Amino acid sequence: MGKVFVFIEGLQDLKKGSLELLTAAKASGREVVAGLIGANVKGLAAKAAQYGAKTVFIADASTLAAYNPDTFAETLTVMIKESGADVVLGSSSSLTRDLFPRVAARLDSGVASDCTILQLTSGDVKARRPLYAGKCTAEVEFVGSPVKFVLMRPNQLPVGSPDSAATATNKDFSPPAGTGKITNKEVVKGTSTKTDLTEANVIVSGGRGMQNGENFKILEELANAIGATVGASRAVADAGWVPHSMQVGQTGKTVAPSLYIAAGISGAIQHLAGMSGSKVIVAINKDADAPIFQKATYGLVGDLFEIVPKMTEEFKKALHK
Ligand SMILES: Cc1cc2nc3c(=O)[nH]c(=O)nc-3n(C[C@H](O)[C@H](O)[C@H](O)COP(=O)(O)OP(=O)(O)OC[C@H]3O[C@@H](n4cnc5c(N)ncnc54)[C@H](O)[C@@H]3O)c2cc1C
Repeated sequence: MGKVFVFIEGLQDLKKGSLELLTAAKASGREVVAGLIGANVKGLAAKAAQYGAKTVFIADASTLAAYNPDTFAETLTVMIKESGADVVLGSSSSLTRDLFPRVAARLDSGVASDCTILQLTSGDVKARRPLYAGKCTAEVEFVGSPVKFVLMRPNQLPVGSPDSAATATNKDFSPPAGTGKITNKEVVKGTSTKTDLTEANVIVSGGRGMQNGENFKILEELANAIGATVGASRAVADAGWVPHSMQVGQTGKTVAPSLYIAAGISGAIQHLAGMSGSKVIVAINKDADAPIFQKATYGLVGDLFEIVPKMTEEFKKALHK
């Protein structure tokens, strides 16, 4: 039975997507190895152990604080080789979408990316990924790939309970010195302190029905009341009302929250492609024939400028008594 390697993005805490993958890896009955690369990431090893990792490979160095494709790819390649794992799982993010193909190429292997269903057993791995803006899904199998790399969208798998008594063997790795062709000159971080859209459990999104960027403040108020992240349609990002980092959809971010509230969004196929994996969709639109209502779990036909503030008020009363 081959081992399974879970790559964990080194941040302040383990992302929910990493916990989902550790849970799935443990449930497969395979031996679970986790890999951590970053600066000050050592502390995360204990949590990885609680979710099923038996061994944690750690490359912890100040030079790994910012993502460098060469250094990260080289380090991860060495880790995977040493682990002997034949399946490598990662939670889809801009970092892993860049990193995994580089490492897979080094190991003469293939990557199934953007997957929403994972079938990991003791002897096999298959995955499903949406195609054609979510109109169908394709089953992905690996043929002649010594290592099988799967990138899962976050929020697709359950998270198990941690075993507080579980421990792992930690193995330290040093990043390769001076092999990279790329040097990071500057890292400009976004100012938002909210959970990233791709990780958010609740999202409130606005479309052209918001009329201007200033009006997004009523969505911010609703989002603050319910602990949500604010998203947007492409129409409003293109209009410059909000930054493109907030765009949900085919050419924006793919999200899968428990609750997605769409205000003043018509429900174009390209928008649906990015959010139709949401568990519950609430649409607010004054046009009863808007296509979004065909996807919505709950539809509110009316003026968003009346409905959204009322929702905020009611949520505040209910949640912050
Ligand atoms: C290649 C390609 C890629 C694309 N990628 C994306 C993408 O990633 N994401 C994306 O979102 N789009 C994408 N688009 C654009 C997409 O086709 C739509 O144009 C866009 O999603 C429309 O945005 P919208 O719903 O905000 O605006 P509209 O379609 O104009 O809808 C506005 C809605 O607001 C409602 N409304 C107006 N006033 C109110 C009110 N007071 N109260 C309640 N409701 C109100 C209207 O009834 C209407 O339904 C892409 C298009 C192409 C061609």
